[in-house]
Amino acid sequence: MRKIDIADVASLPPTPGSYLLLLEIDDPIIVHVGRLGPLIFSPGTWLYAGSAWGHGGVRARVARHFRLEKKRHWHIDALSLVQPPVAAYVELQSELQSELQVNLTIRLECLWIQRLLTLPEMRSPHPGFGSSDCIQGCVAHLVCTSDVTLDWARVLQE
Ligand SMILES: [Zn+2]
Repeated sequence: MRKIDIADVASLPPTPGSYLLLLEIDDPIIVHVGRLGPLIFSPGTWLYAGSAWGHGGVRARVARHFRLEKKRHWHIDALSLVQPPVAAYVELQSELQSELQVNLTIRLECLWIQRLLTLPEMRSPHPGFGSSDCIQGCVAHLVCTSDVTLDWARVLQE
């Protein structure tokens, strides 16, 4: 898993992979997110997990998430237009260990969400956010913590 900021996106290969977006919210914001309606995003660290399999792969997708000009398509667009991510964490499909590739009946982004939610400080306050296509039963593909010092990345490395 490598950390990418907006300046690094072009260095990514245009191949499939999974990513985690890091958003830092300082003051509460209310965002209207499609059919989910107006949602409150409280101060803290917010993490959104997704994957990109189509043309342009994870490079095109992560670049889009950083961009402030785009049409709203996914739930995360409504939030990232107001509060762009500060970084993305990327795992390229081609760089996964072979045993994990075989094991990808569970999507990596779902595994990340499930591991993050094992932390007692981590919450998922907006059910359905980003998980419309999820078949793994994630409550949402967006989680948050008000503890900005939380070392959440450690549970993803296990
Ligand atoms: Zn999922």
